[in-house]
Amino acid sequence: MGEPMLSADEALARLLEAAVPLGQTQTLAVDAALGRVLATPLVAGVDVPPVDRSAMDGYALRVADWSEGQPLPISQRITAGALPGPLVPGTAARIFTGAPIPEGADAVVMQEDCEMRAGQVWIRHAPRAGENLRRRGEDIRQGQVVLEAGQRLTPAHLGVAASVGTTQLTVYRRLRAAVFFTGNELALPGEPLRPGQIYNSNRATLTALLQGLGCEVSDLGIVPDDLEATVGALTAAARQADVVITSGGVSVGEEDHVKAAVERLGEIRLWKVAMKPGKPLVHGRVGEADFLGLPGNPVSAFVVFCLFVRPFLLRRMGGRVRPPLRFLVPAGFAWNKPSNRREFLRARLEEGRAVLYPNQSSGVLTSVAWADGLVDLDIGRTVEPGAPVPFLPLSEFTT
Ligand code: AMP
Ligand code: MG
Repeated sequence: MGEPMLSADEALARLLEAAVPLGQTQTLAVDAALGRVLATPLVAGVDVPPVDRSAMDGYALRVADWSEGQPLPISQRITAGALPGPLVPGTAARIFTGAPIPEGADAVVMQEDCEMRAGQVWIRHAPRAGENLRRRGEDIRQGQVVLEAGQRLTPAHLGVAASVGTTQLTVYRRLRAAVFFTGNELALPGEPLRPGQIYNSNRATLTALLQGLGCEVSDLGIVPDDLEATVGALTAAARQADVVITSGGVSVGEEDHVKAAVERLGEIRLWKVAMKPGKPLVHGRVGEADFLGLPGNPVSAFVVFCLFVRPFLLRRMGGRVRPPLRFLVPAGFAWNKPSNRREFLRARLEEGRAVLYPNQSSGVLTSVAWADGLVDLDIGRTVEPGAPVPFLPLSEFTT
């Protein structure tokens, strides 16, 4: 009917504006914090590395002590974890990777460039000052913010926290998501398919996407295409969750009751987005909960989740939201069907070119399972083979 179509960018901007970050935090061991959102910045209490260290197995020396063809006597042997004495002037120290540089040394020559005989070392080429030294604080300086609030913690972030000696991190509590799936035609895997039924695939996909994002998911199951049943499910879901997410029933057909149910219990904030797949997208509020209604088509639900729901949830979780990674790649296809909606095509990179899954129907979920990215085609765009097209890796969205 009369609702204006929003551009995908506008829809995302509105959604992000409406996403209120969680307040509540908890303290977790670093080991337990993978995927959580950091609530307070982490400030380094130490320099990393804490002292100058050797990057190589070799010999530490003072560059000024070297002259062509002259051996240096070895005055000490320094292993990783050892505490060296100052370097005796005019000598070299045998040193190993990760060992502290002795006071007075200003270079390490790797052992492959040295020759050892009778307690002396010949260094074949002129050493450079600073060679093979890992300087104190070259990674992290004491007092530096190493992890910003709002950072979603990946394995590397946990490693950085550990590298400054941190054992605990303050993170936001998990977001509670309640899901249900509308459609009289839906059957659960494990049940026999009666005539006219299809299996509920959105449950598996959306639950996994939500869990991957670190949400606690409660599933209210399959809800028939009936206004009162939808109102009932929505009421129960909104009572227990921060965010209610549904699939199906958001089109304009007479069997689509989700929008009416949200309007009955709360308010609708958003309706149609000029994109393909996935035109219908509902955002609303029901009681204290946000509501996000995804289209029923499995591909649409997936793409809408990635592009809209995920950033919304991330901000709700207290996270910083960045635009998804995208880069231009040459098209390995031609596209002669300009659309009045922005299109997100399921694609793969093959020999540096984006190739398309042959069936781009929004019902064909195998296209998403096959794809490693989405090609983002602007409204009205046609593509010649070899023309650059924006490619969005799917891995961004699924971790
Ligand atoms: P709807 O958005 O309810 O009009 O559904 C659009 C299409 O997606 C229809 O073909 C539905 O059968 C299908 N569909 C809806 N929900 C699901 C689901 N949970 N799993 C798989 N397909 C679905
Ligand atoms: Mg339906």
